[in-house]
Amino acid sequence: MESYLVDTLGRQLRDLRISVTDRCNFRCTYCMPREIFGSDFPYLERNQIMSFDEIDRLVSIFVSLGVRKVRLTGGEPLLRRNLHELVSMLALRPVEIAMTTNGVLLPRYAPSLSAAGLDRITVSLDAIDEATFASITDSGHTVAAVMAGIEAAESVGLGPIKINTVVKRNSNEEEILDLVERFSNRDIAIRFIEYMDVGTTNGWSLDEVVSAEEIRDMFNDLQPLIPKNESDVAKRYRLPNGSEIGLITSVTEPFCGNCTRARLSADGRLFTCLFSNKGLDLLTPLRAGNSDQEIASLIKSNWSHREDRYSEIRSESSDAMNRVEMSYIGG
Ligand code: SAM
Ligand code: SF4
Ligand code: SF4
Repeated sequence: MESYLVDTLGRQLRDLRISVTDRCNFRCTYCMPREIFGSDFPYLERNQIMSFDEIDRLVSIFVSLGVRKVRLTGGEPLLRRNLHELVSMLALRPVEIAMTTNGVLLPRYAPSLSAAGLDRITVSLDAIDEATFASITDSGHTVAAVMAGIEAAESVGLGPIKINTVVKRNSNEEEILDLVERFSNRDIAIRFIEYMDVGTTNGWSLDEVVSAEEIRDMFNDLQPLIPKNESDVAKRYRLPNGSEIGLITSVTEPFCGNCTRARLSADGRLFTCLFSNKGLDLLTPLRAGNSDQEIASLIKSNWSHREDRYSEIRSESSDAMNRVEMSYIGG
């Protein structure tokens, strides 16, 4: 029988999110505000970033410890050159491979990623209105380009696609119904995410969080759906027209109790919570010649001592000063 690694709260290690780069072609104001993430920002150097062989080796060790789902993220994962080569390596492992992307480079890369074995894709899209999109993403890219990315991914069999929308007050709450309308009658589920206090650069305040309850109130006749699996973080609902929406209630209705996710930063540090301020360096021991068993022991010890439940104790916690940024740790 398969044995799982569990933490102090009985949570298994099942999912691994891997940041393949800390760079991005967007400057979303809530994630990489341009004033901070300018050209002089100390991004990771090339030799600090895990190679595909190193990522694949770490994934094989995580698989031996129970991980069954890998999500490639960043930064913007599609900025990592030849990413399809990594996907084809990981496709040989017994894991589902997903990716979260801002979508604008999908027309170029979706065919090779699909052919390499990518299973699923989530595209982030915060607005349908071009002006609102431009003010959030601060990048010169357009909604039309993201839409073209979604079409490209669907056309090579990467559907059903999920859309992630971070909702921030006085920014894009007006977009919620328009987004649902735009994707209705298509096999695309939109998930609205409560704006979170990750990192230290976005100037987060609780007043800017549009709660899941407020979002539910915007719709009539939402039918709750049964969770697909235990680690599904979205609360899913069916709309009267048959389409599905999800709410990711990280702030107002936290779900740490079933958080089975670990994160690997682009420089190979293991973070057991999105709100951690320090990670366990796996890349240095790997490069120093440690065996798979030795690396597995480091991970086991780290996960078995895990106590993280930041979102459940957010109001009591004041240690926001050193939190790592989402673009580094991998959203
Ligand atoms: N660049 C890719 C993208 O945007 O899809 C992948 C990385 S991004 C960090 C992953 C997800 O994190 C995106 O859906 C983004 O909207 C979300 N995100 C970033 N900062 C956030 C915040 N402060 N609160 C909630 N979600 C956030
Ligand atoms: Fe880039 Fe994604 Fe962060 Fe936006 S949310 S700045 S696209 S990493
Ligand atoms: Fe998981 Fe940490 Fe988020 Fe809780 S706060 S759900 S432990 S990542």
